[in-house]
Amino acid sequence: MIYDTVIIGAGINGCSCAYFLKQAGQRVLLMDQEGIAAGGSGAAGAFISPKFTKGGYLKELLERSYLFSLDFYKTNFPEHIQSSKLLQIANSEENEMRLNAFKESTSLCFNEDKSAVDEILTPYAKEAASLVLEEGGVVYAQAMCEALVEGVDFCKEKAEKICYSDGVWSVGAVKARRIILATGSYNLVVKMPYLTLRRVWGHRIDVHSSTKVAHSIHHHLSISPSSEAGVLAIGATHDLHYDPFGEVSYDVEAGRKELLEKALKSVTLENIEILNDYMGLRSGSNDYLPIVGEVVDAKSTMDEGFDVSKLKRMKDKDFGYYRELYMINGSGGYGFVLAPYLAKQLTDHIVKHNALDTQLTPTRFFRRWAKRQG
Ligand SMILES: Cc1cc2nc3c(=O)[nH]c(=O)nc-3n(C[C@H](O)[C@H](O)[C@H](O)COP(=O)(O)OP(=O)(O)OC[C@H]3O[C@@H](n4cnc5c(N)ncnc54)[C@H](O)[C@@H]3O)c2cc1C
Repeated sequence: MIYDTVIIGAGINGCSCAYFLKQAGQRVLLMDQEGIAAGGSGAAGAFISPKFTKGGYLKELLERSYLFSLDFYKTNFPEHIQSSKLLQIANSEENEMRLNAFKESTSLCFNEDKSAVDEILTPYAKEAASLVLEEGGVVYAQAMCEALVEGVDFCKEKAEKICYSDGVWSVGAVKARRIILATGSYNLVVKMPYLTLRRVWGHRIDVHSSTKVAHSIHHHLSISPSSEAGVLAIGATHDLHYDPFGEVSYDVEAGRKELLEKALKSVTLENIEILNDYMGLRSGSNDYLPIVGEVVDAKSTMDEGFDVSKLKRMKDKDFGYYRELYMINGSGGYGFVLAPYLAKQLTDHIVKHNALDTQLTPTRFFRRWAKRQG
């Protein structure tokens, strides 16, 4: 059997693509070396929030994605998202300036009423500038990924090499007309010398506390509302230097200490018991924007008499691309906000030939790299 699409990587990006492509009537196979949400997605606190900053493309994209994805999750998978109001508190003077700029420019509804959590806020958090969004959410990451791919064929295998011949891609014994690479922070399956991914390690915890938290609270880190059983998620750390593939093992106790210290700057949590630790890598791009679209074949483009002096005038379509090879990656700390929105765009591109946003395609990195080769 030849699939329409094989998706390599079963994190939130791969699972969201599988969902929309299946909805569009495609025969889809999802492949992962470990399982569903085994990478960064399984570690995520999966808070759904916009970016509280002044203007800019990333802020606008995240605002669109936040609205789309929150509605998508709540409509289709209400059992796997905990909805609540969202309290954003500035954690520095610079942060306060950004929050004020956000208030002036956003189209989202917000107010300043934090009375529902006032009792548990520390004096420091109470005094800081803040805003309350009517809608926020925390996704149950593992359950959401599993629900998205219900009914989709799954294969537990590491894609070592992919080959294209006569209109068909082969990944081991699997055959498909098209491949989507959704491999997160792991090594890329094809050669893309123009693309470097930033890997940022993170740690989050689930705790039980007798204190009830009513909103999702974002300050020095994010704190979820309490579940009925009194469980809340606290996360996450941002460790730019720790490499899980290196020789030094991760210091879980130091991570827990940092998480609790930061959470307690915002709220007074009584009788805390740590229930679970989740750790993983976020995968980001050098310009902080996500990456969605066709993959440029650098070698064939360069081999075919590429002239760097003509680069500025060249259109994206003038470069050589791998046939029917796409990627979705680089979501940084916003994978659960971006994935449904971007996966829908990619699906509409594949199925309906809608144009993709050129600011997000991998081609932008090829252009920058090719300029340096001249
Ligand atoms: C601690 C932490 C907290 C976070 N909190 C939030 C948050 O609150 N809100 C939010 O929106 N985002 C959050 N994020 C970010 C979010 O988790 C990521 O952006 C998202 O998980 C990226 O998803 P992905 O599908 O691209 O990658 P991943 O989830 O890493 O999935 C990639 C998958 O590809 C598989 N794979 C890789 N190579 C191969 C291969 N060759 N063959 C087969 N399989 C392969 C891996 O096994 C893995 O399962 C957080 C991340 C971390 C680590």
